[in-house]
Amino acid sequence: MRLGDDIDDHCSRCKRSTDHSVVSMMGEEVLKTRCRTCNSEHKYRQNKSRSKEMTAKEAFDHVLASVTGAQPETPSPAKKKKQ
Ligand SMILES: [Zn+2]
Repeated sequence: MRLGDDIDDHCSRCKRSTDHSVVSMMGEEVLKTRCRTCNSEHKYRQNKSRSKEMTAKEAFDHVLASVTGAQPETPSPAKKKKQ
């Protein structure tokens, strides 16, 4: 991966995954990309909005949420649940 290379990323303006160009890097890490559709520069999001390509942590959080019922706090029987 080098400056100017093509990269897929999620564009918040286009609200979808689009073709981007790498505009800023730190070592091997892509820092900033520019959307080729709307030409806006933004931090590289590693295409995070794509649910089918979850990172390990996102996958873990997803599994954890399904186990705990997406309630971060421990449910207390004495308290009423807020909906
Ligand atoms: Zn865009």
